[in-house]
Order: sequence, then C-alpha cells, then structure tokens
Amino acid sequence: MEYKINTVGVLTSGGDSPGMNAAIRAVVRSCIAQGIKAKGIYRGYQGLIDDDVKELTSQDVSGIIQRGGTILKSARCMEFKTPEGRKKAFDTLQKEQIDALVVIGGDGTFTGARLLAQEYNIPIIGLPGTIDNDLWGTDSTIGYDTSLNTIMDCVDKLRDTATSHERVFLVEVMGRDAGFLTLSAAIASGAEAAIIPERSTVKEQIEEAIGQGRRKSKNSSIVLVQEHAIEGGAQAVAKVLEEAHPEYNTRVTILGHLQRGGSPTAYDRIIASRMGMAAVGALFEEQRSIMIGMKNDEIVYVPLSKAIREKKDVKADKWAAMQVLSI
Ligand code: ADP
Repeated sequence: MEYKINTVGVLTSGGDSPGMNAAIRAVVRSCIAQGIKAKGIYRGYQGLIDDDVKELTSQDVSGIIQRGGTILKSARCMEFKTPEGRKKAFDTLQKEQIDALVVIGGDGTFTGARLLAQEYNIPIIGLPGTIDNDLWGTDSTIGYDTSLNTIMDCVDKLRDTATSHERVFLVEVMGRDAGFLTLSAAIASGAEAAIIPERSTVKEQIEEAIGQGRRKSKNSSIVLVQEHAIEGGAQAVAKVLEEAHPEYNTRVTILGHLQRGGSPTAYDRIIASRMGMAAVGALFEEQRSIMIGMKNDEIVYVPLSKAIREKKDVKADKWAAMQVLSI
C-alpha cells in the first residue's frame, strides 16, 4: 500500500442518531483486529479543530452497542466551513498522527469531509448516520429504523386518545427535506394522511381523507406532517383545518427530539456494525471519499459526491399504500 495507515480517527457529526455507538464500536474493534490504532475525535469537526482526541481501546467501546446517542458527542461546527478551520483540523490530524478518517453523519458532514479530503489528500470514509434516511445510495441510514419505530409507537399511543375524544391529531415528524420517515410511519401506524415535501398535498385532499373516515364512522383521524412540508409545519395545517372545520376538534403533537433518542433497534445495530467494519476494510482497499451503503442487504461503496448530490425519491407504491389503505 502506497499510503500506510497506522491510525484511523473516528468522529460523529451533525444530528445524532441511534446506532452511532454501534458504528463507533465496529470501527474501533475492526482497527484493533487489523493491528492498527483507533482514535476517537470528540464533538465532531469541532473536536478535530480543538484537538479533542483520545485513543480508544476495545474496552472503551464495550457496553455501548445498546445505547442511543453517541459516546463521542456531536456538534455543529461553523469554523470547519472555512478553509482556516479545515487547516486547523489538518494540523490536529498531523499532530495526532491520524492517517485516515471515518466520519459518521449526514450530508453536511460528508460535504465537509469531501473538502478536507480534497484539500489535504486524506483518505476519508463516510458512514450514513441520520434518522432522515435522505442519503442516496443506501436503502437505510443508521438510526432511521429506530426513529421510525419510535414514531410508530407514539402515533399508536396518540390513536388511543384520539379515538376516545373523537379528535383529529396532526403529528409533526422530523426529516429535514425528506419525507421518508413521515411516509413510512404513516403506513406503519395506519394514519389517514401524510403531508411530505416530495408530494404536493392540497387542503382538499386532507379534508377528503378525514371526511372519508368520518363517513365510514371512524371517529378519529391522524395526519402525519413532515416538519418542512408546509411553512409553519403541523401548526399551520391545524390553523387551516380549524378554520374550515371547527367541528374537527384538531390537536397538534410535535414529536421533536423524542424521535432521535432511544436504544437502537436490532436492524440499526446490525447495519451500523456491518458498515463500521466495512469502512475499515475499505480503507485497507485504498478506497477514498466514499460512503458505505447497504443495498439489498449487501455492502456497497458510494462516492460521497453522489450520496450528497443525487436525490433519493419516495417509492411510488409506498405513497399509494398510504393513500389507498387509509380509506
Ligand atoms: P448532518 O451531517 O447531519 O447533515 P450538518 O448539516 O449540521 O449535519 O453538518 C455537520 C457539520 O458538517 C457542520 O457543523 C459543519 O462542521 C460540517 N459542514 C456542513 N456543511 C459544510 C460545508 N458546506 N463545508 C464544510 N463543512 C460543512
């Protein structure tokens, strides 16, 4: 190998997601298995700038696979967006003798990683760590399944009270620019409608979905609203609905950060473990600036540029399932 790797740095950045710890554990233990060192970088790119770095042993990552969040902490770091900030980050890599990086995060994290890789010729591998599942080239991101299950549980609970009081519940779901969490949660919880950025939904469609349920003597309705599908989110939808139908008894629930927390599901632990191991393997194959993805249960290498730029669309049959099966 022309570029000998002796030490791999690992960091988590951007919004945290359940399963990040399982990924860190896999990266650290794979490095140790390959006979090289792993160093944890705390608070994402901020820790890289501030030299907040510690070597991680196998024991340091024991007992974390079941824990949500990230033991390395995460942060949003504005300074890393500047060339001066990235120069400081590079200085830390040299000082700590880190030869390659594994970054766990979303598209912002990958955008920063690409710049650092280009400017300083550092091998960097990305692991998709976000609840939003908005990265192209992978069926699922680490944390998505856990978050989906959390949202489904919450909606099941809301359904109990919605039914008891004959209410319309508008539930606001996270997702940045993507509606995957919202749409899948709507199918899993049998919601009457979902409002997502990828599909335009007019007021009449929501009224129709709720009205149809009422005619069939359903006495409650649940509509999932992706946070950025409509300016003002679920509150804005509630306002429109209340004006048109004061009889609906509309309530808004914003799930918020609940959606990021909790112990990762088996699925997230397994993909995080496989992807973490694959990241170290890819470095030894001299891969650079790629994201490790999972397609049809196989590990795939996706150029970071594609993972960020290409648009992943919602599946047509999912949209149809949500609409047809809720009537
Ligand atoms: P995510 O990785 O979940 O999308 P962010 O968008 O907050 O989260 O990005 C995480 C971090 O990645 C930012 O705080 C910043 O340090 C870095 N980053 C994001 N965008 C850029 C960019 N355009 N250039 C350099 N670094 C970036």
